[in-house]
Amino acid sequence: MSRRKIVAGNWKMNLDRMQSRGLAAAVAARRSEAGTVELVLCPPAVYIETVAAAVGGGSTVGVGGQTMHDKPNGAFTGEVAPPMLVDLGCSHVILGHSERRTLFGETDAAVNAKTRAALNAGLTPIVCVGETLEEREAGRTAAVVTTQVESSLGGIPAADLEKVVIAYEPVWAIGTGKVATPQQAQEVHALIRELVAGLASAPIAERVRIQYGGSVKPDNVADLAAQPDIDGALVGGASLKADDFMAIAAAFGRAG
Ligand code: PEP
Repeated sequence: MSRRKIVAGNWKMNLDRMQSRGLAAAVAARRSEAGTVELVLCPPAVYIETVAAAVGGGSTVGVGGQTMHDKPNGAFTGEVAPPMLVDLGCSHVILGHSERRTLFGETDAAVNAKTRAALNAGLTPIVCVGETLEEREAGRTAAVVTTQVESSLGGIPAADLEKVVIAYEPVWAIGTGKVATPQQAQEVHALIRELVAGLASAPIAERVRIQYGGSVKPDNVADLAAQPDIDGALVGGASLKADDFMAIAAAFGRAG
């Protein structure tokens, strides 16, 4: 079956307001280069409104948060609530990124609560999983990813699970320039699809989109995009340049 490809840019804590506006406008202007691929830009929270305005109302470029709280409001100093993201123009939100997990102590249980909250708010969650180098070298990749997927997504109704995007991001490949081989990535993507079948059903697993993330660049994307279970990319560093981001999106567009 054909799943609509999705390429998202995780800008992390980079760019100022003017640069954010310029990059968003450039991506929106070049949107057609990506064909039918769904595009999402995830700027720092403070620039979401700027980016949403730059890509245009009712735009075919989505805007996403990089994290959020699981409660709709309350005494949570410094946090951003799901309805606030929606209010600013977000359609998506990245959850459980490895930097959130390792630097800010985000657990699978927290990711599960946030995923439910995102779905309740009408946001498409992009839920990140992936093993560290130490875990891969110890032969624990499948076990680690299985625990993350089952704990981060367990108990979510099947009809909702279908709306979730999962990003497989081996931690050792994020920001390091060391990309997983297409075979390494495909193997884990196929495992994740099997896990979703177990959590929901085989037809839903066939429809769930699974992105690869970790040092995706214009010169390594083609072989990744050609894999049957890789439905797009979550892009960090290369999403900060319109040329690179659009080249990656276009490669997924060509892969169909
Ligand atoms: C990321 O942070 O999600 C990511 C994949 O980063 P990079 O592309 O820079 O490895």
